[in-house]
Amino acid sequence: MIFNTDKQYNFKEKGRFKVDINIKMSALEDPFTEVPPAKKMTVFLRQHLGSQTQLIVNEGDSVQYGQIIGNDFNENPLSAPIHSPVNGKIIELKKLRHPDSGKMEDAVIIETTDNNKQAFFEPIKFETASKEKLLERVRDAGIVGLGGAAFPTHFKLNPTKKITHLIINAKESDPNVACDCRLMMEKPMGILNGIQIMAKILGVENIAVATRTEEGETPEFEKIIQENGIALKRMRPNYSIGAEKLLIKEILDKEVPSGKYPPDIGVVVHNVATAEAVSKAVIDGESLVSRGLTFYSEHEGGKNLWVRMGTPVEHILKHLGVSALKFDRIILGSILMGPTIPDPTYPILKATSGITAFTKNTPDPYGNSLPCIRCGYCNTVCPVDIYPQLIMEAEKAENVRWLKNLHVEACIECGLCSYVCPSRIRFTKYLKGGKLRIRE
Ligand code: SF4
Ligand code: SF4
Repeated sequence: MIFNTDKQYNFKEKGRFKVDINIKMSALEDPFTEVPPAKKMTVFLRQHLGSQTQLIVNEGDSVQYGQIIGNDFNENPLSAPIHSPVNGKIIELKKLRHPDSGKMEDAVIIETTDNNKQAFFEPIKFETASKEKLLERVRDAGIVGLGGAAFPTHFKLNPTKKITHLIINAKESDPNVACDCRLMMEKPMGILNGIQIMAKILGVENIAVATRTEEGETPEFEKIIQENGIALKRMRPNYSIGAEKLLIKEILDKEVPSGKYPPDIGVVVHNVATAEAVSKAVIDGESLVSRGLTFYSEHEGGKNLWVRMGTPVEHILKHLGVSALKFDRIILGSILMGPTIPDPTYPILKATSGITAFTKNTPDPYGNSLPCIRCGYCNTVCPVDIYPQLIMEAEKAENVRWLKNLHVEACIECGLCSYVCPSRIRFTKYLKGGKLRIRE
Protein backbone atom coordinates (compact mmCIF):
# COMPACT_ATOMS: atom_id res chain seq x y z
CA MET A 1 0.00 0.00 0.00
CA ILE A 2 1.46 3.34 -1.03
CA PHE A 3 -1.37 5.36 0.43
CA ASN A 4 -2.38 6.12 3.95
CA THR A 5 -5.78 4.49 4.30
CA ASP A 6 -6.51 6.15 7.64
CA LYS A 7 -7.40 9.42 5.93
CA GLN A 8 -11.08 10.14 6.12
CA TYR A 9 -13.44 12.46 4.36
CA ASN A 10 -15.53 14.66 6.60
CA PHE A 11 -18.83 13.32 5.37
CA LYS A 12 -17.99 9.64 5.67
CA GLU A 13 -21.02 7.67 6.80
CA LYS A 14 -22.89 10.76 7.96
CA GLY A 15 -25.52 10.60 5.27
CA ARG A 16 -28.01 8.02 4.14
CA PHE A 17 -25.46 5.89 2.34
CA LYS A 18 -21.93 4.92 3.02
CA VAL A 19 -19.14 6.53 1.00
CA ASP A 20 -16.24 4.26 1.70
CA ILE A 21 -12.82 5.87 1.34
CA ASN A 22 -11.31 2.43 0.72
CA ILE A 23 -12.89 2.58 -2.74
CA LYS A 24 -10.51 5.36 -3.62
CA MET A 25 -7.58 3.83 -1.85
CA SER A 26 -7.85 0.52 -3.71
CA ALA A 27 -8.26 2.31 -7.06
CA LEU A 28 -5.12 4.35 -6.40
CA GLU A 29 -3.08 1.17 -6.65
CA ASP A 30 -4.57 0.23 -10.04
CA PRO A 31 -2.61 1.42 -13.13
CA PHE A 32 -4.49 2.74 -16.18
CA THR A 33 -5.40 0.15 -18.80
CA GLU A 34 -6.56 1.22 -22.23
CA VAL A 35 -10.05 0.35 -23.47
CA PRO A 36 -10.04 -0.20 -27.27
CA PRO A 37 -12.70 1.78 -29.17
CA ALA A 38 -16.14 0.28 -29.77
CA LYS A 39 -17.34 -0.68 -33.26
CA LYS A 40 -19.82 2.20 -33.03
CA MET A 41 -18.93 5.34 -31.11
CA THR A 42 -21.56 7.87 -29.96
CA VAL A 43 -20.16 11.39 -29.89
CA PHE A 44 -22.24 14.25 -28.46
CA LEU A 45 -21.71 17.56 -30.29
CA ARG A 46 -21.61 19.41 -26.96
CA GLN A 47 -19.30 18.06 -24.30
CA HIS A 48 -18.45 21.33 -22.59
CA LEU A 49 -20.04 24.18 -20.74
CA GLY A 50 -21.23 26.52 -23.50
CA SER A 51 -22.85 26.46 -26.88
CA GLN A 52 -23.41 23.30 -28.91
CA THR A 53 -21.27 22.72 -31.98
CA GLN A 54 -22.66 21.90 -35.42
CA LEU A 55 -21.57 18.93 -37.49
CA ILE A 56 -19.06 20.18 -40.10
CA VAL A 57 -18.76 16.89 -41.98
CA ASN A 58 -21.52 14.96 -43.75
CA GLU A 59 -23.16 11.66 -43.03
CA GLY A 60 -21.25 9.04 -45.00
CA ASP A 61 -17.92 10.95 -44.77
CA SER A 62 -14.77 9.21 -43.61
CA VAL A 63 -13.10 10.91 -40.64
CA GLN A 64 -9.69 10.62 -39.05
CA TYR A 65 -8.73 10.10 -35.44
CA GLY A 66 -8.56 13.57 -33.85
CA GLN A 67 -10.20 15.39 -36.79
CA ILE A 68 -12.61 18.23 -35.92
CA ILE A 69 -16.16 17.10 -36.71
CA GLY A 70 -18.15 19.65 -34.68
CA ASN A 71 -17.55 23.40 -34.42
CA ASP A 72 -19.49 26.52 -33.49
CA PHE A 73 -20.35 28.44 -36.68
CA ASN A 74 -20.81 31.65 -34.68
CA GLU A 75 -17.32 31.29 -33.20
CA ASN A 76 -18.75 31.66 -29.72
CA PRO A 77 -15.69 31.75 -27.43
CA LEU A 78 -17.61 29.68 -24.85
CA SER A 79 -17.51 26.55 -26.97
CA ALA A 80 -14.94 23.91 -27.86
CA PRO A 81 -14.64 21.81 -31.02
CA ILE A 82 -15.56 18.15 -31.01
CA HIS A 83 -13.30 15.57 -32.67
CA SER A 84 -13.59 12.06 -34.00
CA PRO A 85 -12.15 9.60 -31.44
CA VAL A 86 -11.43 7.04 -34.19
CA ASN A 87 -10.60 6.57 -37.84
CA GLY A 88 -14.06 5.80 -39.13
CA LYS A 89 -17.18 6.80 -41.01
CA ILE A 90 -20.04 9.07 -39.91
CA ILE A 91 -23.11 6.89 -40.19
CA GLU A 92 -25.82 8.89 -38.42
CA LEU A 93 -26.65 12.22 -36.80
CA LYS A 94 -29.37 11.86 -34.18
CA LYS A 95 -30.93 13.46 -31.12
CA LEU A 96 -30.18 11.83 -27.77
CA ARG A 97 -30.89 12.91 -24.22
CA HIS A 98 -27.69 14.56 -22.98
CA PRO A 99 -26.58 13.05 -19.66
CA ASP A 100 -25.61 16.48 -18.32
CA SER A 101 -28.36 18.83 -19.48
CA GLY A 102 -31.12 16.21 -19.61
CA LYS A 103 -32.21 17.79 -22.91
CA MET A 104 -32.32 16.26 -26.39
CA GLU A 105 -29.06 17.21 -28.10
CA ASP A 106 -27.20 16.26 -31.29
CA ALA A 107 -24.92 13.24 -31.29
CA VAL A 108 -23.14 11.49 -34.15
CA ILE A 109 -22.63 7.78 -34.54
CA ILE A 110 -19.23 6.89 -35.99
CA GLU A 111 -18.39 3.44 -37.27
CA THR A 112 -14.82 2.59 -36.33
CA THR A 113 -12.62 1.34 -39.15
CA ASP A 114 -9.31 0.86 -37.30
CA ASN A 115 -7.52 1.41 -34.03
CA ASN A 116 -4.77 3.77 -35.29
CA LYS A 117 -3.95 6.83 -33.24
CA GLN A 118 -1.97 9.11 -35.53
CA ALA A 119 -2.10 12.63 -34.05
CA PHE A 120 -4.14 14.99 -36.24
CA PHE A 121 -2.21 18.22 -35.58
CA GLU A 122 1.47 19.10 -36.02
CA PRO A 123 3.53 19.14 -32.81
CA ILE A 124 4.47 22.62 -31.52
CA LYS A 125 7.67 23.54 -29.63
CA PHE A 126 6.08 25.42 -26.78
CA GLU A 127 9.30 27.05 -25.56
CA THR A 128 9.55 29.14 -28.75
CA ALA A 129 5.88 29.35 -29.84
CA SER A 130 3.87 32.55 -29.38
CA LYS A 131 1.12 32.80 -26.77
CA GLU A 132 -1.44 33.20 -29.59
CA LYS A 133 -0.30 30.02 -31.33
CA LEU A 134 -0.49 28.02 -28.09
CA LEU A 135 -3.93 29.38 -27.31
CA GLU A 136 -5.15 28.55 -30.80
CA ARG A 137 -3.92 24.96 -30.40
CA VAL A 138 -5.64 24.58 -27.02
CA ARG A 139 -8.89 25.65 -28.68
CA ASP A 140 -8.46 23.57 -31.85
CA ALA A 141 -7.68 20.48 -29.78
CA GLY A 142 -10.98 20.96 -27.91
CA ILE A 143 -9.45 21.10 -24.44
CA VAL A 144 -11.97 21.63 -21.63
CA GLY A 145 -11.74 21.36 -17.85
CA LEU A 146 -11.47 17.66 -17.09
CA GLY A 147 -12.26 18.01 -13.39
CA GLY A 148 -15.98 17.95 -14.08
CA ALA A 149 -17.00 21.46 -15.11
CA ALA A 150 -15.89 21.06 -18.77
CA PHE A 151 -15.32 24.81 -19.07
CA PRO A 152 -13.49 25.56 -22.37
CA THR A 153 -9.81 25.86 -21.42
CA HIS A 154 -8.83 28.38 -24.11
CA PHE A 155 -11.46 30.76 -22.69
CA LYS A 156 -10.06 30.42 -19.19
CA LEU A 157 -6.53 30.90 -20.47
CA ASN A 158 -7.44 34.19 -22.13
CA PRO A 159 -8.90 36.34 -19.34
CA THR A 160 -9.43 40.07 -19.66
CA LYS A 161 -7.97 40.66 -16.16
CA LYS A 162 -4.30 40.53 -15.14
CA ILE A 163 -3.58 37.10 -13.63
CA THR A 164 -1.07 36.76 -10.81
CA HIS A 165 -1.62 33.15 -9.66
CA LEU A 166 -2.17 29.81 -11.40
CA ILE A 167 -3.47 26.99 -9.21
CA ILE A 168 -3.46 23.41 -10.46
CA ASN A 169 -6.23 21.45 -8.81
CA ALA A 170 -5.12 17.91 -7.99
CA LYS A 171 -7.27 17.69 -4.88
CA GLU A 172 -9.62 15.10 -6.42
CA SER A 173 -12.18 15.07 -3.63
CA ASP A 174 -14.63 12.58 -5.15
CA PRO A 175 -14.61 9.52 -2.93
CA ASN A 176 -14.87 6.97 -5.75
CA VAL A 177 -12.52 8.58 -8.29
CA ALA A 178 -8.75 8.15 -8.34
CA CYS A 179 -7.75 8.95 -11.94
CA ASP A 180 -6.09 12.32 -11.20
CA CYS A 181 -3.84 10.78 -8.55
CA ARG A 182 -2.95 7.96 -10.95
CA LEU A 183 -2.12 10.54 -13.60
CA MET A 184 0.28 12.21 -11.17
CA MET A 185 1.98 8.85 -10.71
CA GLU A 186 2.04 7.82 -14.36
CA LYS A 187 2.41 11.04 -16.36
CA PRO A 188 4.28 13.60 -14.22
CA MET A 189 6.24 15.08 -17.14
CA GLY A 190 3.09 15.59 -19.20
CA ILE A 191 1.51 17.45 -16.29
CA LEU A 192 4.59 19.61 -15.78
CA ASN A 193 4.74 20.53 -19.49
CA GLY A 194 1.05 21.38 -19.47
CA ILE A 195 1.49 23.63 -16.42
CA GLN A 196 4.42 25.39 -18.10
CA ILE A 197 2.40 25.94 -21.30
CA MET A 198 -0.54 27.35 -19.33
CA ALA A 199 1.80 29.59 -17.29
CA LYS A 200 3.38 30.89 -20.48
CA ILE A 201 -0.01 31.72 -22.02
CA LEU A 202 -1.18 33.46 -18.84
CA GLY A 203 2.17 35.15 -18.13
CA VAL A 204 2.17 34.03 -14.48
CA GLU A 205 5.06 33.03 -12.25
CA ASN A 206 3.24 32.14 -9.04
CA ILE A 207 2.11 28.55 -9.52
CA ALA A 208 0.84 26.09 -6.94
CA VAL A 209 -0.37 22.50 -7.21
CA ALA A 210 -3.05 21.63 -4.65
CA THR A 211 -2.95 17.94 -3.79
CA ARG A 212 -4.61 15.59 -1.34
CA THR A 213 -1.63 13.22 -1.39
CA GLU A 214 0.90 13.16 1.40
CA GLU A 215 4.67 13.39 1.17
CA GLY A 216 6.18 10.36 -0.57
CA GLU A 217 2.93 9.12 -2.11
CA THR A 218 3.73 10.47 -5.60
CA PRO A 219 7.53 10.84 -5.34
CA GLU A 220 8.43 11.46 -8.99
CA PHE A 221 5.67 14.04 -9.40
CA GLU A 222 6.65 15.83 -6.18
CA LYS A 223 10.32 15.98 -7.27
CA ILE A 224 9.58 17.30 -10.76
CA ILE A 225 7.15 19.92 -9.50
CA GLN A 226 9.44 21.24 -6.78
CA GLU A 227 12.54 21.24 -9.01
CA ASN A 228 10.68 23.55 -11.37
CA GLY A 229 9.83 26.17 -8.77
CA ILE A 230 6.17 25.18 -8.39
CA ALA A 231 4.71 25.14 -4.87
CA LEU A 232 3.10 21.91 -3.69
CA LYS A 233 0.22 22.61 -1.32
CA ARG A 234 -1.12 19.72 0.70
CA MET A 235 -4.84 20.09 1.35
CA ARG A 236 -6.93 19.02 4.30
CA PRO A 237 -9.05 16.03 3.25
CA ASN A 238 -12.36 17.94 3.48
CA TYR A 239 -14.50 17.02 0.53
CA SER A 240 -15.65 20.48 -0.59
CA ILE A 241 -12.19 22.09 -0.58
CA GLY A 242 -11.72 20.71 -4.10
CA ALA A 243 -14.10 23.37 -5.41
CA GLU A 244 -12.39 26.24 -7.19
CA LYS A 245 -13.45 29.12 -4.96
CA LEU A 246 -12.85 27.20 -1.74
CA LEU A 247 -9.45 26.07 -2.97
CA ILE A 248 -8.45 29.69 -3.58
CA LYS A 249 -9.58 30.61 -0.07
CA GLU A 250 -7.56 27.71 1.34
CA ILE A 251 -4.36 28.45 -0.57
CA LEU A 252 -4.33 32.24 -0.98
CA ASP A 253 -6.77 33.24 1.76
CA LYS A 254 -8.65 35.29 -0.86
CA GLU A 255 -12.41 35.33 -1.35
CA VAL A 256 -14.00 35.32 -4.77
CA PRO A 257 -17.11 37.51 -4.32
CA SER A 258 -20.50 36.01 -5.17
CA GLY A 259 -21.30 36.47 -8.85
CA LYS A 260 -17.60 36.92 -9.66
CA TYR A 261 -15.04 34.47 -10.97
CA PRO A 262 -11.45 33.67 -9.92
CA PRO A 263 -9.89 35.83 -12.71
CA ASP A 264 -11.67 38.82 -11.15
CA ILE A 265 -9.22 38.53 -8.26
CA GLY A 266 -6.24 37.58 -10.48
CA VAL A 267 -6.41 33.79 -10.11
CA VAL A 268 -6.93 30.98 -12.61
CA VAL A 269 -7.53 27.38 -11.51
CA HIS A 270 -7.08 24.40 -13.84
CA ASN A 271 -7.47 20.71 -13.16
CA VAL A 272 -4.34 18.53 -13.21
CA ALA A 273 -5.72 16.28 -16.00
CA THR A 274 -6.47 19.39 -18.07
CA ALA A 275 -2.80 20.35 -17.77
CA GLU A 276 -1.80 16.94 -19.13
CA ALA A 277 -4.29 17.27 -22.01
CA VAL A 278 -2.85 20.71 -22.87
CA SER A 279 0.62 19.20 -23.02
CA LYS A 280 -0.52 16.45 -25.40
CA ALA A 281 -2.36 18.96 -27.60
CA VAL A 282 0.67 21.20 -27.98
CA ILE A 283 3.66 18.87 -27.81
CA ASP A 284 2.14 15.80 -29.50
CA GLY A 285 -0.59 17.40 -31.65
CA GLU A 286 -3.29 15.27 -29.96
CA SER A 287 -6.93 16.38 -29.86
CA LEU A 288 -8.86 15.74 -26.67
CA VAL A 289 -10.41 12.39 -27.61
CA SER A 290 -9.47 10.23 -24.64
CA ARG A 291 -9.08 10.54 -20.90
CA GLY A 292 -8.44 8.61 -17.71
CA LEU A 293 -11.40 7.67 -15.53
CA THR A 294 -12.17 5.39 -12.60
CA PHE A 295 -14.80 2.67 -12.87
CA TYR A 296 -16.30 1.51 -9.59
CA SER A 297 -18.80 -1.12 -8.59
CA GLU A 298 -19.10 -2.90 -5.26
CA HIS A 299 -18.08 -6.28 -6.65
CA GLU A 300 -15.38 -5.20 -9.12
CA GLY A 301 -13.86 -2.47 -6.91
CA GLY A 302 -12.08 0.53 -8.44
CA LYS A 303 -10.33 0.35 -11.83
CA ASN A 304 -8.50 3.08 -13.70
CA LEU A 305 -9.16 3.04 -17.42
CA TRP A 306 -8.02 5.10 -20.40
CA VAL A 307 -11.10 5.58 -22.57
CA ARG A 308 -11.97 7.46 -25.75
CA MET A 309 -14.84 9.94 -25.59
CA GLY A 310 -17.88 8.46 -27.31
CA THR A 311 -17.25 4.93 -26.02
CA PRO A 312 -20.55 3.45 -24.80
CA VAL A 313 -20.52 2.40 -21.15
CA GLU A 314 -21.70 -1.10 -22.10
CA HIS A 315 -18.57 -1.52 -24.26
CA ILE A 316 -16.38 -0.58 -21.29
CA LEU A 317 -18.22 -3.08 -19.09
CA LYS A 318 -17.79 -5.75 -21.76
CA HIS A 319 -14.06 -5.00 -21.88
CA LEU A 320 -13.98 -5.55 -18.11
CA GLY A 321 -15.84 -8.83 -18.53
CA VAL A 322 -18.93 -7.55 -16.70
CA SER A 323 -22.49 -7.70 -18.01
CA ALA A 324 -24.36 -4.39 -18.07
CA LEU A 325 -27.54 -6.30 -17.17
CA LYS A 326 -26.19 -6.81 -13.69
CA PHE A 327 -26.49 -3.12 -12.89
CA ASP A 328 -29.62 -1.28 -11.89
CA ARG A 329 -28.23 2.20 -12.03
CA ILE A 330 -25.10 3.72 -13.60
CA ILE A 331 -23.74 7.17 -12.80
CA LEU A 332 -21.32 9.06 -15.05
CA GLY A 333 -18.81 10.72 -12.75
CA SER A 334 -18.81 11.19 -9.01
CA ILE A 335 -21.05 9.15 -6.74
CA LEU A 336 -22.25 12.42 -5.19
CA MET A 337 -22.91 14.60 -8.19
CA GLY A 338 -22.69 12.60 -11.43
CA PRO A 339 -25.79 12.17 -13.62
CA THR A 340 -27.50 8.79 -13.88
CA ILE A 341 -27.64 7.55 -17.46
CA PRO A 342 -30.90 6.08 -18.79
CA ASP A 343 -29.19 2.99 -20.20
CA PRO A 344 -25.63 1.64 -20.67
CA THR A 345 -25.48 2.55 -24.37
CA TYR A 346 -24.70 6.12 -23.21
CA PRO A 347 -21.18 7.28 -23.98
CA ILE A 348 -18.27 8.79 -22.10
CA LEU A 349 -18.00 12.60 -22.35
CA LYS A 350 -14.95 14.82 -21.95
CA ALA A 351 -15.85 15.56 -18.31
CA THR A 352 -16.52 11.95 -17.29
CA SER A 353 -14.04 11.26 -14.51
CA GLY A 354 -15.74 8.08 -13.34
CA ILE A 355 -18.39 5.45 -13.85
CA THR A 356 -20.20 4.19 -10.77
CA ALA A 357 -22.41 1.15 -11.16
CA PHE A 358 -24.98 -0.04 -8.62
CA THR A 359 -26.20 -3.63 -8.72
CA LYS A 360 -29.82 -4.51 -8.02
CA ASN A 361 -28.79 -5.47 -4.50
CA THR A 362 -26.97 -2.20 -3.78
CA PRO A 363 -29.48 0.21 -2.24
CA ASP A 364 -30.09 3.20 -4.49
CA PRO A 365 -29.32 6.23 -2.30
CA TYR A 366 -31.78 8.40 -4.22
CA GLY A 367 -34.45 5.80 -5.03
CA ASN A 368 -38.07 6.70 -4.25
CA SER A 369 -37.64 10.34 -3.26
CA LEU A 370 -40.16 11.65 -0.75
CA PRO A 371 -41.54 15.18 -0.37
CA CYS A 372 -39.38 17.76 1.43
CA ILE A 373 -40.03 17.81 5.18
CA ARG A 374 -38.33 21.21 5.65
CA CYS A 375 -35.74 19.89 8.04
CA GLY A 376 -33.16 22.38 6.76
CA TYR A 377 -30.26 19.90 6.65
CA CYS A 378 -29.47 20.75 3.03
CA ASN A 379 -29.10 24.45 3.91
CA THR A 380 -26.94 23.74 6.94
CA VAL A 381 -24.47 21.54 5.07
CA CYS A 382 -24.01 23.75 1.99
CA PRO A 383 -20.38 24.98 1.95
CA VAL A 384 -21.29 28.17 0.06
CA ASP A 385 -24.31 29.02 2.24
CA ILE A 386 -27.05 28.93 -0.38
CA TYR A 387 -30.49 27.32 -0.07
CA PRO A 388 -30.75 24.21 -2.26
CA GLN A 389 -34.32 23.43 -1.24
CA LEU A 390 -35.54 26.91 -2.29
CA ILE A 391 -33.48 26.69 -5.47
CA MET A 392 -35.28 23.44 -6.28
CA GLU A 393 -38.62 25.28 -5.92
CA ALA A 394 -37.43 28.19 -8.05
CA GLU A 395 -36.18 25.87 -10.78
CA LYS A 396 -39.42 23.88 -10.76
CA ALA A 397 -41.24 27.23 -11.18
CA GLU A 398 -38.76 28.21 -13.97
CA ASN A 399 -38.38 31.55 -12.16
CA VAL A 400 -35.12 33.15 -13.33
CA ARG A 401 -35.32 36.16 -11.02
CA TRP A 402 -35.83 33.94 -7.98
CA LEU A 403 -32.95 31.69 -9.07
CA LYS A 404 -30.71 34.76 -9.34
CA ASN A 405 -31.77 36.05 -5.93
CA LEU A 406 -30.97 32.64 -4.46
CA HIS A 407 -27.46 32.77 -5.99
CA VAL A 408 -27.73 29.40 -7.72
CA GLU A 409 -24.59 30.34 -9.67
CA ALA A 410 -22.56 30.14 -6.46
CA CYS A 411 -23.30 26.40 -6.23
CA ILE A 412 -20.07 24.41 -6.49
CA GLU A 413 -21.97 21.21 -7.34
CA CYS A 414 -20.52 19.30 -4.42
CA GLY A 415 -23.63 17.13 -3.96
CA LEU A 416 -23.63 17.39 -0.17
CA CYS A 417 -27.22 18.66 -0.07
CA SER A 418 -28.45 15.51 -1.83
CA TYR A 419 -26.24 13.42 0.38
CA VAL A 420 -27.78 14.62 3.66
CA CYS A 421 -31.42 14.95 2.55
CA PRO A 422 -33.60 12.54 4.57
CA SER A 423 -36.19 12.63 1.78
CA ARG A 424 -33.55 11.31 -0.67
CA ILE A 425 -34.01 14.28 -2.99
CA ARG A 426 -31.40 14.46 -5.73
CA PHE A 427 -30.71 18.16 -6.32
CA THR A 428 -28.35 17.81 -9.30
CA LYS A 429 -30.87 18.50 -12.05
CA TYR A 430 -32.35 21.52 -10.24
CA LEU A 431 -28.97 23.10 -9.49
CA LYS A 432 -27.48 22.48 -12.92
CA GLY A 433 -30.79 23.36 -14.59
CA GLY A 434 -31.05 26.60 -12.59
CA LYS A 435 -27.55 27.68 -13.61
CA LEU A 436 -28.26 26.86 -17.24
CA ARG A 437 -31.55 28.78 -17.13
CA ILE A 438 -29.79 31.92 -15.89
CA ARG A 439 -27.06 31.65 -18.53
CA GLU A 440 -29.59 31.12 -21.29
S1 SF4 B 1 -26.38 23.75 -3.21
FE1 SF4 B 1 -25.83 21.60 -2.76
S2 SF4 B 1 -24.42 21.04 -4.42
FE2 SF4 B 1 -24.56 23.30 -4.41
S3 SF4 B 1 -22.84 23.96 -3.13
FE3 SF4 B 1 -24.64 23.81 -1.78
S4 SF4 B 1 -24.53 21.72 -0.93
FE4 SF4 B 1 -23.16 21.75 -2.69
S1 SF4 C 1 -32.67 18.21 3.41
FE1 SF4 C 1 -34.30 17.44 2.08
S2 SF4 C 1 -36.10 17.31 3.39
FE2 SF4 C 1 -34.61 18.61 4.46
S3 SF4 C 1 -35.13 20.74 3.83
FE3 SF4 C 1 -33.59 20.00 2.44
S4 SF4 C 1 -34.81 19.17 0.71
FE4 SF4 C 1 -36.19 19.32 2.43
